[in-house]
Amino acid sequence: MPNKSVSSADRVRLTVLVEDTVNKPDLIAKHGLSILVETTSADSKSRILMDAGPPPDVALHNANVMKADIRSLDAIVISHGHYDHAGGLVQILRSIGRPTLVVAHPLAFAPKFAYKPNLKFIGTEFNHESVRDAGGVLLIARNSVPVATGVIASGEVPRENDFEKVEGFWTVANDHFLQDPMTDDQSVVINLREKGLVIISGCAHAGIINTVRNAEKIAGTDDIYAIIGGFHLADASGKRIEATLDQLLRIQPKRLYPCHCTGSRAMKRFLESFGERLAAVRTGDIIEL
Ligand SMILES: [Zn+2]
Ligand SMILES: [Zn+2]
Repeated sequence: MPNKSVSSADRVRLTVLVEDTVNKPDLIAKHGLSILVETTSADSKSRILMDAGPPPDVALHNANVMKADIRSLDAIVISHGHYDHAGGLVQILRSIGRPTLVVAHPLAFAPKFAYKPNLKFIGTEFNHESVRDAGGVLLIARNSVPVATGVIASGEVPRENDFEKVEGFWTVANDHFLQDPMTDDQSVVINLREKGLVIISGCAHAGIINTVRNAEKIAGTDDIYAIIGGFHLADASGKRIEATLDQLLRIQPKRLYPCHCTGSRAMKRFLESFGERLAAVRTGDIIEL
């Protein structure tokens, strides 16, 4: 049974402003993610932007083409600090032109690097001051934040299994170059009345299974209606893909929308098991649940 203290939304509409692929003219596809999340409940509505896409303004361009109004957002939730999710933030805030709540983890604007194949900066050049200067009202928290009726920013995701390891990311902390455990990674969780949870991951660097288990704990229910977003399995071992599939089959989401960094091998395996319950997600798609 759902946690009584967690409110629920009656309906959710997801507008995919940025994803790696596109099948509509005039829209730009680029490696990254940005999803407009609109919910309706008995006595309220909410409009939240999950991630801002890559720099400088891909999400903004596509929102304008789609006539998706992102000037009246209640909040922007940043899933983590990589450029492909947070890079468009300042341009979006400037375009909104009024103070807008930005929910992020304390390490979301920390330095972020990867070897691709040589050392490359993959974060944003933003800091709290530049986000504030652009109109962002920062809510910086490690724990979960209820953002609207039935909508929660998950906060840090505990790492509880042995197969979802974070590898290949680096940061600088206390003047030391270190492996980045991507502690800032979080999801958006929507408690959809009579259906269950809709979980939107950014890249799921914490692991998509850890992400789902954390959402279950926060919302107090293990009814999972839909999982949408990057599952970060493009470079994963076959063993990890099979372990993830095995857990997803236990979780039994009614709908699965893996995209962005999920990778074609994992997509193929998930499709074999989930069939019509799985759908591709592309820039410009609108998903109503
Ligand atoms: Zn990432
Ligand atoms: Zn990503």
